[in-house]
Amino acid sequence: MSTVPASIPQANPGAGYRALKGEIDAAVARALASGWYILGAEGRGFEAEFAAWLGLAHAVGCGNGTDALALALRALGIGPGCAVATVSHTAVATVAAIEMAGAVPVLIDIDPAHYTLDPVELEAVLAHPPAGLPPVRAVIAVHLYGGAADLDAIIPICARHGAAVVEDCAQAHGATLGGRKLGTLGDVASFSFYPTKNLGALGDGGAIATGNTALAERLAALRQYGWYQHYVSDEVGVNSRLDEVQAAILRARLPHLDAHNARRRAIAARYDAALAAGNIAPPARRPGGDHVFHQYVVRVPNRAEVQAALRAQGIGTGVHYPVPVHLQSAYRGRVALGPAACRASERAAAEVLSLPMYPELSDAEVARVCAAIGLL
Ligand SMILES: *Cc1c(COP(=O)(O)O)cnc(C)c1O
Repeated sequence: MSTVPASIPQANPGAGYRALKGEIDAAVARALASGWYILGAEGRGFEAEFAAWLGLAHAVGCGNGTDALALALRALGIGPGCAVATVSHTAVATVAAIEMAGAVPVLIDIDPAHYTLDPVELEAVLAHPPAGLPPVRAVIAVHLYGGAADLDAIIPICARHGAAVVEDCAQAHGATLGGRKLGTLGDVASFSFYPTKNLGALGDGGAIATGNTALAERLAALRQYGWYQHYVSDEVGVNSRLDEVQAAILRARLPHLDAHNARRRAIAARYDAALAAGNIAPPARRPGGDHVFHQYVVRVPNRAEVQAALRAQGIGTGVHYPVPVHLQSAYRGRVALGPAACRASERAAAEVLSLPMYPELSDAEVARVCAAIGLL
């Protein structure tokens, strides 16, 4: 008999579905039976429930997290003739959305301890923008891996320089800073419900959240051709809607999100303890914030070797992200960088490693990962 243990993937959206199969199947059946498939009762229900969970007046569903960012920028009046500052160490979606809105990105380096936008360099770029760049009208603060960007520093800097603050919360559903949920601190926030996110649909989905009623009304129009009344476009919009089936699935999952985030934190604490004996530092947590561990990320200079050693024990890993946006062929040489030239981002991209992280990991599986990483 072979005793090779079953492999542990780095992410496992199928396990997430199976764990809530009864509730999700019932929600899907309800949406299908309703006879209404786009922008109906499920979508409105989810928007209200998600806004209430965040503690904000409005959430507007849309097609995905990339569209959510582009719509947020457009609703703020940011487009051609504007620059938007963000990081290079992020999902390419963050930068793609800036160009979708018609604006020009300028990429700031990260604080390598937290992998989030460096406020000192941001201030320098806002005070002395790179030559030829249009005025920086917004900053997208990415809360990477489930931990907060340094909003206590970023928000006052943006206020001094007249730039709006957009929170990219695609990896940070439920994370907090100073006791407040991320997504409620800036002017507007975007969320993704891609299946592996902390709150995931079983397909694409996204939302924009804001306390500003006029902004929410504009967002609701922009996501559907710029319609304020049916079939009449008052401004040019797009088609980016959250469908009823995905909205129903998200309604089934939202009540479990806090418990799922707590489970992610408990797994992270066990990984921390396992690493304490070795040479690898556990991920930093920003003081005053609750991390939700969308990813548990360590840095290893010999990444390929470590990945191979874990793979040999049936343990999957991921790299988020292997190439910073400014070095990807689509962007290289044509996107503006801040004075730090994203050097810390380049170093991070070469060394980051994401360990298995999802709420359905069993205690036995967590113990296996701990035993393996304790030997690194
Ligand atoms: C996933 C993600 C997005 C994009 O979301 P999609 O739903 O895949 O379009 C944007 N920003 C960050 C940081 C992400 O992780």
